[in-house]
Amino acid sequence: MKYLLYNGKTVTGEGVTEAAVLIEGEKIAEITPSDKLDEDFLSHYADARAIDLKGRFIFAGGIDAHVHFREPGMTHKADIGTESKAAVKGGITSFIDMPNTKPATVSAGTLAEKLALAEGRAFANYGFHLGATNGNFQEITEILESGKDGISKKDFGGIKVFMGSSTGNMLVDDEDTLRKIFGIKEKEILVHCEDEQTIRENLKAAEERFGEDIPFGMHPEIRSRRACILSSIKALETAVALGTRLHLLHVSTKEEAEMVRAAKLSSSNITAETSVNYLWFCDDDYERLGARMKCNPSIKSADDRKALRQALKDGIIDTIGSDHAPHLAEEKDRKYPVCPSGVPSIQHSLPVLLTIAAEEDIPLTRIASVLSEKTAEMFGIEDRGFLKEGYYADLVVVDMDSFQTVSSEDTDCKCGWSPYEGERLKGRITDVFVNGHHVIGDSEFISEIPCGQKLIFGK
Ligand SMILES: [Zn+2]
Repeated sequence: MKYLLYNGKTVTGEGVTEAAVLIEGEKIAEITPSDKLDEDFLSHYADARAIDLKGRFIFAGGIDAHVHFREPGMTHKADIGTESKAAVKGGITSFIDMPNTKPATVSAGTLAEKLALAEGRAFANYGFHLGATNGNFQEITEILESGKDGISKKDFGGIKVFMGSSTGNMLVDDEDTLRKIFGIKEKEILVHCEDEQTIRENLKAAEERFGEDIPFGMHPEIRSRRACILSSIKALETAVALGTRLHLLHVSTKEEAEMVRAAKLSSSNITAETSVNYLWFCDDDYERLGARMKCNPSIKSADDRKALRQALKDGIIDTIGSDHAPHLAEEKDRKYPVCPSGVPSIQHSLPVLLTIAAEEDIPLTRIASVLSEKTAEMFGIEDRGFLKEGYYADLVVVDMDSFQTVSSEDTDCKCGWSPYEGERLKGRITDVFVNGHHVIGDSEFISEIPCGQKLIFGK
């Protein structure tokens, strides 16, 4: 199948160009600037299906390197099929899933199992991170050096380290192990930074004061900025000392953004992510949303949000993850101590980002960079993440003049709710291509065949 997308504007990290994109089979065959096209150019592409984009913007499809699709083990909340479908609807054409599933992805065997689960069921291209524990350093080394049970270093994204507990109990708190993991040079080391001791003390104090009826507005006091800062200082200092390719996940405070800014001056291997949730919400929203915005790290103040938006604009934030972490509505109805942390966000992360870009005057070239390009580069994803001839045709087309108001009816993930319900977002996703397949047209699914392929982390 051939498609010619014309009258559009391509957006890359380098610039915005009026151009036509020819898709042939799975790949981008040609990108031709509009001023190089002659008047009857359509006749030269008579064998292609021509789509007039009417001035809309074309980005390389989003690569979300921070999702929790809950499979295996928690498929009542979400699964690879349902969540990857919601992702594609939102213009995210590739995802890399985190290892805190059941069982956790901490060995060659569990990784192979997950890859098998995704095959033929994922609507977006799929990849997985490997988790570190206090006990699997040997396993990781073996996979990296010689491969194990058919799994090699090309088969996974980065190595996830929880320096602070979260869903799934994968805390790495053994100092010696932590330094060994930070010594790995072949892969990005992705860290969740929150100091466990500080959180425990804060939780105890809150329980003494409120019993089990802790208000959700206390979340940023319990999972406090101090917990984040303490843990991030440790991660950044160790990484700068050892030259670690450290990717600091879901930065949620102004101080951490400043620390990353400073650390980048000492090491070119330091990168940072924030999630759309920290860029959109702030502690004023707990009263309205309560449990529905409870995530780890906690969403903090309006001041932090402002600093994170600035860091995004300045290039201090390298990638945006959705940290899509769905739970059922009834699970979220529980009292604070037993209410799980995490929110579903993948379907609206791109429109949220585009809305923020408009509000903060962030150029679309920055958005292209954080949406796919930098992620592809950092994880060495082969032939994806860029609008380039010869690359896979993973594309998202956005009408920047349209707005959408999020409602639970158009929330496609399995849990069926979104903290963004009621928000008016700029940028309607009209068309999505995955591996050259026209999956979304006029904002609706036109093909229900899962055509995601396995990501290769080979570069
Ligand atoms: Zn996460």
